[in-house]
Amino acid sequence: MLSKTHSRHRMIFCSFVAAVLIPCVFFLLWPLPAAYRTTPAAPPAPVHQSTPADQPPEAPLVLPRERVSAGSAQANAPSDGGCAGVSDAELTRFLRRLADLPHYDKSRAARYLNYYGSARYTDQQIVRLVNTDNDLVPFTDAVPAAVDAGVLTLVNKYHEMPACEPEDLTPLPGAYASRGELRAPACRAYVAMADAAQKAGCPISCVSPYRSYAQQQSIYNDYVSRHSLALADTYSARPGFSEHQTGLCVDVTAEGAEYTEFDQTAAFRWMTEHAHEYGFILRYGDGMDYITGYIYEPWHYRYVGVQAAAYIHSHDLTFEEYYYYYILDDDTPA
Ligand SMILES: [Zn+2]
Repeated sequence: MLSKTHSRHRMIFCSFVAAVLIPCVFFLLWPLPAAYRTTPAAPPAPVHQSTPADQPPEAPLVLPRERVSAGSAQANAPSDGGCAGVSDAELTRFLRRLADLPHYDKSRAARYLNYYGSARYTDQQIVRLVNTDNDLVPFTDAVPAAVDAGVLTLVNKYHEMPACEPEDLTPLPGAYASRGELRAPACRAYVAMADAAQKAGCPISCVSPYRSYAQQQSIYNDYVSRHSLALADTYSARPGFSEHQTGLCVDVTAEGAEYTEFDQTAAFRWMTEHAHEYGFILRYGDGMDYITGYIYEPWHYRYVGVQAAAYIHSHDLTFEEYYYYYILDDDTPA
């Protein structure tokens, strides 16, 4: 009897285990494997790919939310440009046209629109001047020059030279200049270039190399007193904004010629063909004042190193463009 009862109890217990406990345990444990599943791997981070220099980026599909950029760019926009009252379709067509041009930057689209309809600039000029911040207000919107860029430091009306003297100023030998100093690499390159020009029968002479802040102040003040402030700003740099303060540029002339007549000499033609081989570029080209900020100065050459000079020369760029595209954005020239 005891045995039968025990047996029946065991059967009931086994049935209970089979019918209730096993499903319960199974049910409770079922989520566990999911909880221990490895989290799916995150997609790989997008690799930054810079836009090739000569390839325009994708055209914008929509107009920028802000038609006219705020602040200085708007204040400095040309009076014959702007997009007030212009249809979306027309503005989109304008931006699509610009987007087909080299170096179009869609992050600057609102600033390009400030120049819509301007008779003064071509489409390519609009892209070039906005890309180099020339739509901002000169001097007022200036930032400190990035002197860490070394011989590629940009100093112009938007990049102010700090009030310090370059450490490696080197006197130019008397045979090459009437006076003055340059930074060591520019000095070596200038001597080599002047030797080569002499050998080619086109001797050049440096009439103005490094200038201190005080020297530039004196020169600029003299021009302002003789002309107007606005006129002086077209051909002379304000103290703090002069490339001569970098110790990396020279004003040159040919024997027997005033420096203002340098582009009528054989020495100028030689410089046009060979200066870049020594790391120098013509800094303020003819008709480029909307980017460089200064009138044509055939006498003013800037040392940037052989590699940069060769690229700027062969691609017909201003130094501003080279700086913004390849130094500031850290791209590699194609
Ligand atoms: Zn100069």
